[in-house]
Amino acid sequence: MAMAFDPVREVARRLWSCGLCKSVAFSVFLLILGIESIILIPSAYNFQRNALQLLEQRAMTVMQSVVLAEEALAQPRELEQLLRKVQRNNPILALSVRRSDGATLGGTGDTDFSDFAIDEVLRGRRDKVDRLTLGGTCYDLAWSAAVSGERLVFLARMDSSHVNSELLAFVLRIAGLVALIVAVVTTGTMVVLYRSVLSPILRLRRSILGAAANPDHADDYRIRERPQDELGEVFQAHDEMLTRLAESKRADRLRAEERAHFLARHDPLTGLPNRDFFLEHLRQALSAACQREENVQVLVLNLAGFSAINDALGQDVGDRVLIEVARKLNQGISAGQFAARLGGDEFGIASTGSVSPAQVAEHAERILAEIELPLVIEGNEIRPRGRIGIASPSTGCVEGETVLHDAELVLSRIRSDARARYQFFSPEMTREAQKRQEIERELRQALKRGELQLFYQPKVALTQGGAEKAFSACEALIRWNHPRHGWISPGQFIPVAEACGLIAPVGEWVLREACAQIRRWLDAGLAPPRVAVNVSAPQFRDPRLPELVRGAMADAGVDADLLELEITETAAMEDVALTVAVLSTLKRLGVHLSIDDFGTGYSSLSYLRQLEIDSIKIDKSFVDDIGRDSNADAICDAIIQLGHSLGKRVVAEGVETHAQAEFLRLRRCEEAQGFLFARPMPAAEFADRLRRYA
Ligand code: C2E
Ligand code: MG
Ligand code: MG
Repeated sequence: MAMAFDPVREVARRLWSCGLCKSVAFSVFLLILGIESIILIPSAYNFQRNALQLLEQRAMTVMQSVVLAEEALAQPRELEQLLRKVQRNNPILALSVRRSDGATLGGTGDTDFSDFAIDEVLRGRRDKVDRLTLGGTCYDLAWSAAVSGERLVFLARMDSSHVNSELLAFVLRIAGLVALIVAVVTTGTMVVLYRSVLSPILRLRRSILGAAANPDHADDYRIRERPQDELGEVFQAHDEMLTRLAESKRADRLRAEERAHFLARHDPLTGLPNRDFFLEHLRQALSAACQREENVQVLVLNLAGFSAINDALGQDVGDRVLIEVARKLNQGISAGQFAARLGGDEFGIASTGSVSPAQVAEHAERILAEIELPLVIEGNEIRPRGRIGIASPSTGCVEGETVLHDAELVLSRIRSDARARYQFFSPEMTREAQKRQEIERELRQALKRGELQLFYQPKVALTQGGAEKAFSACEALIRWNHPRHGWISPGQFIPVAEACGLIAPVGEWVLREACAQIRRWLDAGLAPPRVAVNVSAPQFRDPRLPELVRGAMADAGVDADLLELEITETAAMEDVALTVAVLSTLKRLGVHLSIDDFGTGYSSLSYLRQLEIDSIKIDKSFVDDIGRDSNADAICDAIIQLGHSLGKRVVAEGVETHAQAEFLRLRRCEEAQGFLFARPMPAAEFADRLRRYA
């Protein structure tokens, strides 16, 4: 059962649990006790003194009556009778009357006062002596008085036993009074303490604890009703402190919220708005443009080869490049434009207004020109290269995500094209992207299901007149035998594989399969020619490539002499320093190296000289026009001469006519590959040819 609230009990409980109150009250208690004790001692002494004085007066009065009976003093018998009578009527135990020489005139009771200092009185040095004896129960007195011209000494032993008990009663009475005073004063002190100290302190404590637990709303805990004393001042200071605390907490929270809001919407490295903020802005810009019938343009900029900068010079340098690019973008934007870092090395610029595609292109050119200016970071000269995907919907009434996605789609398309700088989005790109996604999904399956196959296209030696049917080498060309679409050419799926990263497993499969095929031909007793394998740009940049090549040859037990790697000129020229290093590593393995599609990649002579290659392959587009376009003739001629001047063999691909073959043979082009000699064919057919021409 719940106990009813008892305020007295509650106050007592609080007082009892208040250490401060207890110590103050206890001190008061001890103090009063001490004072009262000090007062009690002289009071008790006075009380006793007064009681004894009464006895003394009684004894003297009694003796006065004896002295008045002068005749009795002369008669010892009468004197004694008188003394006995007096003793009977008074609290007197003994009486004695003596002469000044000490002779006793008369006495009654036990008159042995031998141990009492009566000599003093006898000799007249003092008029009176007294003492308490026998444990305070007897009070002895001796005094002198002149009676009829003679000095007599009177001795009296008074019964003082009542004095002790009266004294005890007096002390007890006083002690009781003291206890009462102590109790009343202590209780009073505690009550006053409770009201004026403890209660306010407890209130203060509640407020401090509340404010500490909820500092953001500390001012809710202010104590508005204040006592008019020093504690009142404490309360006031406390309230001011809480107000300040709450204000500072609110300011802190506001700052933290602003900071969090800023961080949530900005990129910490460059300080530019982030992707979320960009999209938020884009949505607003599009909705405004939709109402005003204006256009919005989204440019997505990406840094080509940024990961190479990161890898070669470290992430700190990479970060500095990003910061610089961000700074330039931010400085370059005008009113109505918005720049953001969308992630990694991708930046976005959104602008509103009705502008022509030519103006947007000009804007893109300006951005690229600005960010491609060389940077010097930690002593390294860096030339960032940019690419821009542009989405410029004809109306603003579209989704922000869609526009951004379109611009990014353009970027992903031009990523593999080293020459592309910017491009506009077109709706076909979406369809193509969907198709590419489908190819990507199916290509993963194709790898697992063994739908990929290598065809082999012979290369023939042109300079060994008439020996065109003998294969000097061959090129392994991948094919995809799709369960629904039949044979798919690499031109359709290799770029997809390159873009989505699938080129790594596909390329490895090609390399291993080509080596395994050489091994199978060797095991079948055939003499296969050198087999050329195409290496894509991403594969070529992969530092694991040399080890992969070495492993594939070792696993199949194939000589390096039987393997050739073809790298397209554009891939080779992407990063010449890297190409020089990778080719030199590959060369050390002993494999043949050639530059494919030569003439399309704008190689400079000085670069070409540095590359450790064995041959260059004239691109089919030039061979196609031999005999039809004098420029093509001149280019083919020049490439052959260039190759020879560098000591390289020259191969022509896509040779379809005798005229082309003759033209090339006359210019001492060493090898040719093309439908004129043979189309790419399955390994079994190629083996048949090998047997036939062996
Ligand atoms: P590529 O390395 O320049 O290969 C030569 C292409 O020209 C082959 O096309 C070949 O079939 C074709 N060709 C050869 N002679 C003639 C001719 O006389 N007339 C015509 N019209 N075409 C001829 P394919 O097999 O479609 O390969 C296209 C490209 O795909 C290759 O160009 C190469 O870059 C890439 N590729 C092929 N297989 C692989 C591979 O296994 N790995 C990689 N990374 N790329 C490959
Ligand atoms: Mg090739
Ligand atoms: Mg080629």
